[in-house]
Amino acid sequence: MKLYNTLTGKKENLPAPGDKGLNMFVCGPTVYDYSHIGHARTYVFFDALVKFLRRRLGLKVNYLQNITDIDDRIINRAKESNKIPQEIAQEFTAAYRADMADLAIDGVSAYAAATDYLPEIISQVERLIKKGLAYAAKGSSTALGASSVYFDVRKFPDYGRLSRQKLSELKEGVRVETEPGKKYFADFALWKASKPDEPKWNSPWGEGRPGWHIEDTAITEKNFGPRYHVHGGGMDLIFPHHEAEIAQMESISGLKPLAKIWLHTGFLLVNGEKMSKSLRNFITIRDFLKEHAATTLRYMVLSNHYRAPFDYTEKTASMARSSVQRLADFTARLETVKDQASQFPLDDFTKSFWDNLADDFNTPQAWANMFDLVKEANKFMDNHSLSMVDAQKIIDFVKEVNDIFNILPQQEPAPAEIMALAAEREKARVAHDFAGADEIREQIKKLGWEIDDTPQGPRISKIKN
Ligand code: AMP
Repeated sequence: MKLYNTLTGKKENLPAPGDKGLNMFVCGPTVYDYSHIGHARTYVFFDALVKFLRRRLGLKVNYLQNITDIDDRIINRAKESNKIPQEIAQEFTAAYRADMADLAIDGVSAYAAATDYLPEIISQVERLIKKGLAYAAKGSSTALGASSVYFDVRKFPDYGRLSRQKLSELKEGVRVETEPGKKYFADFALWKASKPDEPKWNSPWGEGRPGWHIEDTAITEKNFGPRYHVHGGGMDLIFPHHEAEIAQMESISGLKPLAKIWLHTGFLLVNGEKMSKSLRNFITIRDFLKEHAATTLRYMVLSNHYRAPFDYTEKTASMARSSVQRLADFTARLETVKDQASQFPLDDFTKSFWDNLADDFNTPQAWANMFDLVKEANKFMDNHSLSMVDAQKIIDFVKEVNDIFNILPQQEPAPAEIMALAAEREKARVAHDFAGADEIREQIKKLGWEIDDTPQGPRISKIKN
């Protein structure tokens, strides 16, 4: 498989896994509010990718994700709502995990909360100071006489390699903190001296809390060592977050690259602008799921190329819903096939489908292959020339795809009352009491369910609105 590596600007072969498998780290959320469907875009993509690596390529993948549970935004949110930061972090970690479960995102092997890694974080900061790459600076932001610690970016010549910027060209501004005590505007905080009412941990620099970038390298060093295979996140994280991670870990270990492949997802946009909390143009995952199925969101995300930006509109969602329905109807139709002979060229479609996924996870092309298959197989079924054997092979293929993408609606099991009525109807039908059978079918319909008679027996499904 080839993946586009932000670090080199090229598509490269997936690195060979080590004895323990392939190590993949993806930046998780800062837990101060509900996640929106822009976040979901990034997490749905990595979930599908990891399932492709595991289920199709047969790799063991250790997929690790951090949870940023200490951060300025959490502290501010706690102040606004008269809670302590820990409560906010706990509340929104639980909300995030519930949202992921609702979206059938279950590929992550382990979550790591930043606050569980304080000794590892402090150790990294100490090692950077020892190597002369970081310095403690007394900031005016603290009343406790503690110091903040900064990374000295001018001592790391590769700073800017990932984002393709020269240090001299870096501009002050977005997500670059301007703090007293810093020697250079682009230096970033490894450790922040806490204000009196902020969460704090003891450290060699007094009471303070970790900077944002250091939590990830502390977590990955502990779990994966100084280098690993794949690092991912949304493209807004390339600078300064991922650039800073590289500077920290490569300085500590003297080894590079920190990650062999750097994967970045494009943004979910609204009217051409990134969906984000600060622009107030977001739809939370929860609100989206009140109106739409999780499969709609997954398909909407996965039918776009992960690196390309795409604009979210209601129309995008309804188109995704129609595509999912088309595929569901197709598989239902395949189950009704009774014909015996066909020469269906299934391999032509499946080969292109899998090849496209192996080429930088080109899902738009892969879905085009899938819907070509739907069109062609439907034609065969119209002519009664698709055999049951081929129909079953297509069903198996769609199932294999769905195990990775999870886009087909789960059939809701019918309640006992409906099952009992269906059994009664089947008895009437077998006894050639068709009027009686039809009457029961109507009764079932009134309760919101329908019955299709297929060669495999009656199929009961919920009536869609
Ligand atoms: P945050 O909690 O803001 O750090 O975001 C968590 C993850 O979601 C990061 O990988 C972000 O890059 C990603 N993300 C945030 N907003 C969007 C968006 N509109 N489209 C795609 N990914 C996003």
